[in-house]
Amino acid sequence: MHKNWIAGEWVASQNTQQNLNPSDLSDIVGEYVRASAADVDAAIGAASQAWPAWSLSTPQQRFDALDFIGSELLARKEELGELLAREEGKTRPEAIGEVARAGQIFKFFAGETLRAAGEFLPSVRPGLNVEITREPIGVVGIITPWNFPIAIPAWKIAPALAYGNCVIFKPADLVPGSAWALAEIISRSGLPAGVFNLVMGRGSVVGPALVEDPRVHAITFTGSVGTGNQLLIDAVSRHKKVQLELGGKNPFIVLDDADLEVALDCTIQGAFYSTGQRCTASSRIIVERGIHDRFVEELAKRTSALRVGHALRSETQIGPVADASQLEQDMEYVAIGQREGAQLLCGGERLQRDTEGFFFSPAVFVNATNDMRIAREEIFGPVAAIVRADDYDHALALANDNEFGLSSGICTQSLKRATHFKRHIQAGMTMVNVATAGVDYHVPFGGRKGSSYGPREQGRYAQEFFTVVKTAYTAA
Ligand code: ADP
Repeated sequence: MHKNWIAGEWVASQNTQQNLNPSDLSDIVGEYVRASAADVDAAIGAASQAWPAWSLSTPQQRFDALDFIGSELLARKEELGELLAREEGKTRPEAIGEVARAGQIFKFFAGETLRAAGEFLPSVRPGLNVEITREPIGVVGIITPWNFPIAIPAWKIAPALAYGNCVIFKPADLVPGSAWALAEIISRSGLPAGVFNLVMGRGSVVGPALVEDPRVHAITFTGSVGTGNQLLIDAVSRHKKVQLELGGKNPFIVLDDADLEVALDCTIQGAFYSTGQRCTASSRIIVERGIHDRFVEELAKRTSALRVGHALRSETQIGPVADASQLEQDMEYVAIGQREGAQLLCGGERLQRDTEGFFFSPAVFVNATNDMRIAREEIFGPVAAIVRADDYDHALALANDNEFGLSSGICTQSLKRATHFKRHIQAGMTMVNVATAGVDYHVPFGGRKGSSYGPREQGRYAQEFFTVVKTAYTAA
């Protein structure tokens, strides 16, 4: 039984849950406890007690803990990658890559502890100096989704600790295995009791307990639009600092002058890898008239040839959908697309394999229009809608006509178009001749419009959320 880590101890709970392998439902990955509201209260109490001392910890103390965590993640990336692939369903290479990235994130933020610089200015008044410094915010609630079970926790936990905050970490119920393994490493990293706490449990129990408690100063959340927007209202009305990463409906534009091979690679990678379950996936492919038919014909061929199967088999390119409700949602959107009048070119069906799992063939819709639900709403599965554009200006207008603004991309050989696109696309991230999904860990991550709220995540920009600024005046 995998327990929660609260106040420096492993804590049991009456409620438990099984973690199932979506590639093989007969494979139980493990048993995990579910926190009660009292467990969350204990974790918040422990974090509040630990915080005064931890907020004054030296950069070296924080560096040593983060560096230890990063080194162990990197050393165990194969083993932890297998666990991740088993519980979430992405392929083994993708899962190993995700664990390695989590390790690199901890290493990056270990380094950031040593680079905490402020500003020193003369005052406008005589005999005065002004210092601007950053201090930790306090106790941070971290709520994460199931699609990146170790990288998203890493990119929230590492900066939270690096800048001197205490953490209550609530992973997605669907994938507690990677979160628990990460917490187990953190439990041996030399942090004082209460600085880091793991509370696996139901969102409806743990979420409100974190949001409503005045001892929690900030909440960082990645997940669905509905849950995130409600959390925002509840948290902001209590004066908490909030950071949200929600959905995306990321456009990828293919212009007539694109290199067809690059365009196909970017589309397949962006739309279907990780089973399309990435908030940066490109599910809207906007294709200029002249290249449209050639592109679509080749895309259908390559999509149909993708090997869907058990996440741990070496030949598999696309693993299963993460769970039954996500599979149902994917199938529902395939039906919606057909009802709306788009044409299903390939895929969109449940597949049988020799293990019982949530296998689904990647789907391509053509003749989609930008007002259809399959082109407006986040499906979070391997379903791509192709929208035809008359020219570049039309493509850009279509790309911007959406409530989300997370990632975006364009495939073109024109420097002029690429430069114009980078400036005019309404998105937090944009890619030229590279897939919309797949980002670096040392630079900011986040979106505009309905995709995000609050300061950016990752890289040095993470300090905006995880610190508060102090302005100090000294009369010499
Ligand atoms: P996803 O389907 O991408 O996981 P969710 O919004 O359902 O998106 O879940 C994201 C995280 O939010 C999960 O850890 C989930 O348990 C948690 N969660 C669910 N309901 C709430 C809530 N009412 N308050 C806070 N967190 C919640």
